[in-house]
Amino acid sequence: MTYQVNEKGYYGDFGGAYIPEMLYPNVEELRSKYLEVMREESFQREFNDLLKEYVGRPTPLYFAERFSKKYNTKVYLKREDLCHTGAHKVNNTIGQILMAKRLGKNRIIAETGAGQHGVATATVCALMGLECIVYMGEVDIKRQAPNVARMKMLGAKVVPALSGSRTLKDATNEAIRDWINNPVNTHYIIGSVVGPHPYPDMVARFQSVISEEVRKQLMEKEHREDPDYVVACVGGGSNAAGIYYHYLDNPKVGIIAVEAAGKGILTGESAATSALGKEGIIHGSKTLLMQTEDGQITEPYSISAGLDYPGIGPMHANLFKSGRAEFISVTDDDAMKAGLALAKLEGIIPAIETSHALAIFEDRKFREQDVVVVNLSGRGDKDLSSYIEYFGL
Ligand SMILES: *Cc1c(COP(=O)(O)O)cnc(C)c1O
Repeated sequence: MTYQVNEKGYYGDFGGAYIPEMLYPNVEELRSKYLEVMREESFQREFNDLLKEYVGRPTPLYFAERFSKKYNTKVYLKREDLCHTGAHKVNNTIGQILMAKRLGKNRIIAETGAGQHGVATATVCALMGLECIVYMGEVDIKRQAPNVARMKMLGAKVVPALSGSRTLKDATNEAIRDWINNPVNTHYIIGSVVGPHPYPDMVARFQSVISEEVRKQLMEKEHREDPDYVVACVGGGSNAAGIYYHYLDNPKVGIIAVEAAGKGILTGESAATSALGKEGIIHGSKTLLMQTEDGQITEPYSISAGLDYPGIGPMHANLFKSGRAEFISVTDDDAMKAGLALAKLEGIIPAIETSHALAIFEDRKFREQDVVVVNLSGRGDKDLSSYIEYFGL
């Protein structure tokens, strides 16, 4: 019994590769090669060197003393906010750009909603001197002007998706269409543990550096490798997969996943997939997603752009269904308050996504001796205008 992926690309009942026939050659090339490439010593060396010299790893595991005192338990923050570009996403894009190079690809495509994954992709394309095309809904381009500017500065071409609701899912459709038309020279960088196998597993492996570091760092600080709990917010689930990875099959470590309840689970404006989702297929994998009676994807809502996604990765769907992980959802209001509280208690302004994970301590009580590691997935600079508007700063 394992919570890792099996040979066929499934986590329990979830995962797989439900793709149109025209996409099969691209996905199959990646599937047949990714493990072999990742195991190469030269790949490992280049990946680890870039994580160290370019991203700034290892990120600190910081004991949050004042925060811990407030909630009467021991809270450590894994500081992914200190990564180059301000969040964990770059761990994955570094891994995938190296994969693309090993597979002989010289053209990179990606889709982005709020622009964070687009920026992380444009960053590594600049680093490697590869052509970069980012698909983004026309509505999102207007809403996320600073990230569009960043991508342009980094040399990427931002292509508007003009169909449907002109948001993330439409950008994804455009990226898939591009990949079908350019199977030989193009790699599609997906930004979370979603999509057809092998993407969820490949992205989880790239992000697993997070829990690999936590094990070493906790050994130094607490003389134990295992915390009592690991906590992370879940959009698609990549920062969560990273901090859970080495603990998935260790029952002594509790796993807590925090989703965005938006304005409340029952308001129709929410992104709490575990509470509202049903089994279905999204972006090529079988998982839990928010959908209508006839299987159309429901538009999700959260104040945080990174959690505003109608599904969760198949690893997390399995963690939910099996009961291995505890799922908690947090409203916009509670997340915003928690973000402000961390700023005042620890001098760290978190991304609003991350603020959701920090908000659980109000209601979810831990024992005084518990060691709880929260993945501080990103910094709040990108969210300053939302904090200003919300608090009238
Ligand atoms: C994108 C993002 C998330 C959500 O994505 P996951 O794949 O669920 O990790 C969470 N936090 C931050 C800071 C992000 O930028």
